[in-house]
Amino acid sequence: MAKSFTKANGGKHRRAAVDYARSLLERAKDRCWTMLDPLHGGGAKVKNARAVADAAIANAATAHERLRAALEILPQGIVFLDNEGRYILWNQKYADIYKRSADLFKVGVRLEDTLRIGVGRGDYPEAKGREEEWIKERLDQLYNPRGPHEQNLSDGRCILIEERKTSDGGVIGLRMDITTLKQREASFRLLFDDNPVPMFVLHRDTQSFIAANAAAQSHYGYTRDQLLKLKLHDLRVEHDERVDDVACSHETEVVTVKHSTRDGRTIEAVVFSRQLEYEGDPAILLAVVDITERKQAEARIAFMAHHDALTELPNRVLFRQRMGDALAARARSGGFAGALCIDLDNFKLVNDTLGHPMGDRLLQEVAHRIQRVTRQRDMAARLGGDEFAILVSESKTPQELAILAQRVIDTVSEPYMIEGHALTVGATIGIAVAPTDGEDADRLLRNADLALYRGKSEGKSTFRFFEQEMDAKAQARRQIETDLRAAIATGKIEVHYQPLVELSTNEVVGFEALLRWPHPTRGFVPPSEFVPLAEETGLITALGNFVLKRACADAIEWPEHVKLAVNLSPMQFRVGNVYANVKDALTASGLDPARLDLEITESVLLDRTDHVIAHLHALRALGVRISMDDFGTGYSSLSYLRSFPFDKIKIDRSFVRDLPSNRHTLAIVRAILGLASGLDMKVVAEGIETQADLACLAAEGCKEGQGFLFSEARPQAEVIKLLNENQRRHVA
Ligand code: C2E
Ligand code: MG
Ligand code: MG
Repeated sequence: MAKSFTKANGGKHRRAAVDYARSLLERAKDRCWTMLDPLHGGGAKVKNARAVADAAIANAATAHERLRAALEILPQGIVFLDNEGRYILWNQKYADIYKRSADLFKVGVRLEDTLRIGVGRGDYPEAKGREEEWIKERLDQLYNPRGPHEQNLSDGRCILIEERKTSDGGVIGLRMDITTLKQREASFRLLFDDNPVPMFVLHRDTQSFIAANAAAQSHYGYTRDQLLKLKLHDLRVEHDERVDDVACSHETEVVTVKHSTRDGRTIEAVVFSRQLEYEGDPAILLAVVDITERKQAEARIAFMAHHDALTELPNRVLFRQRMGDALAARARSGGFAGALCIDLDNFKLVNDTLGHPMGDRLLQEVAHRIQRVTRQRDMAARLGGDEFAILVSESKTPQELAILAQRVIDTVSEPYMIEGHALTVGATIGIAVAPTDGEDADRLLRNADLALYRGKSEGKSTFRFFEQEMDAKAQARRQIETDLRAAIATGKIEVHYQPLVELSTNEVVGFEALLRWPHPTRGFVPPSEFVPLAEETGLITALGNFVLKRACADAIEWPEHVKLAVNLSPMQFRVGNVYANVKDALTASGLDPARLDLEITESVLLDRTDHVIAHLHALRALGVRISMDDFGTGYSSLSYLRSFPFDKIKIDRSFVRDLPSNRHTLAIVRAILGLASGLDMKVVAEGIETQADLACLAAEGCKEGQGFLFSEARPQAEVIKLLNENQRRHVA
């Protein structure tokens, strides 16, 4: 056998090896001589034979070099041992693998010795504590090879060893560094077995599971053994072609599938798959992300975006959308389509008297009834508050819409029994018909709304079809709104003042600030027309602020005993910050808060009563007074008088007008005066127009009043003049 050395053994060893190799060659030559001598005999022959031998030697050296080169390009480490376990030959890779022991490798050295030294130095962690035993086992493996085995080195690397005996009793050993492979295996195990995401490995050809991690087992409710008996399609609820496609691709594929678990639940999952080799088999790795809950949440969110939470009816968004579709379909097929806008009558009363939870229950019941009379292909919706709508997607005649509207009114108006309360509400309906009243959803809805508005103002519990003239009115209203906005912005709105008079002395004790809007084309627009408009459009905040500022500033110019009354709208309590506005107006003008009266109506107290009462107390803490305006109209609930200690009650002018002629009215006025004196509140009578009114009120003991008999509201300049005259009269 050819013997050699490796470069790694250093110069000294190399020299030893070279010498050794030379001696072997010499020996081989001698052998040749001995073999050749008897055959050829004589000098010439000998010479010839020597040449043959030299050639053989040269050949042997070349063959040896080739073998060495071949060994060096092997990716594995290789070692040759002789029949006594001594090193004969090894390649660089082998020396690299055992780099800690490489200094020990020498031709002729016994592997057992290097092993022992290595064990002594702790190069083999597995030998720790059982050194001799381990060495014995290792040598046993060396001489009785039973297939590949692994060996761990102290630096953490793992070496695969494979050994084979040679015919002359030596050993050829192969070494492969499988550290990265092992690490990859370990991380795969970590990523697979311990992954919280359910994972499977699927045989590419049979589609049966060949591995399943713990998460897959618990998620699907099977044991590992059970799973390994299943095929992928056993989990599927629906057959999905795409999953089969996945098997043909090397890229990561993502599909959404429905799977069933062992207990029969259906889950929706996104499955990521990728081809790989698994223990030598063609396989697919599947990772399953369960999106069931996410899908359910998404469905819920989508539902909520298009439905009203209280009644679960479609909301305005969905209604609008469906209406668009229905109108487009109608445009193709002809016929009529329609929108019914439904508003409940007296719903607010239920809410105010029985509370919001009861109001909510009622709305649910109403929704239910409206739904019941709506055909399958039509749509009932809740547009907000107590406003509902029905979309009739196709109808032969507008008359059908009238019949439906009447059905809705009748059904909704039936009494309700809710938590032991018998309740009734009515319904007013506005109807707009396509194509006559508009062909797009917005227009049709707006027109149905206008018709509803008309129905409401004409007496409720009826239905009204839209008419062009309603639109004209609405447009006029929009025009006023635009004008009002401009008038507020440019300061065209004026504040006039109507005197409040001490009835016994005819002395002016104060003025009520009243808004006046001189309109370029409409003359003076009365506040009863534009204040509600300002309330609806939100302009009231600006308007209310303006009055407070202007009136306080004007009142500063009046004698100190003359008071100022300013009206506050309920809307100013709902939006805007009345308290801050009042305080600002007082500070800006320097008016003594004791001179300011704020007039509110009962309707201020209808909504968010606690919030409003807190506001009223805060205002009073500023030193201003609070009056109850227009008493006797509206609900006139006595509980309002109890809920806040008003300073003043203003008897509505509708009572004063009737007073001299109507016995019943007199009784009411008398009762109000009695009530007020019992509650320590002052009384002012509004709308005194005649001497008779005045006489009657004075006789009943009313101390203060206002009305055209004394004066109507006048601009500040006239007020100053009036006050001066008053003064002069008093002085005179
Ligand atoms: P109000 O607060 O009850 O004001 C009294 C209304 O009665 C005033 O009507 C006044 O001109 C009218 N009036 C006074 N004496 C007589 C009379 O002898 N006979 C008749 N027939 N009417 C009389 P005006 O100015 O048209 O105001 C109407 C309503 O508009 C006010 O009723 C008040 O609710 C509201 N308003 C007026 N100015 C303001 C304001 O600055 N802010 C708010 N929020 N509302 C205001
Ligand atoms: Mg008033
Ligand atoms: Mg009034």
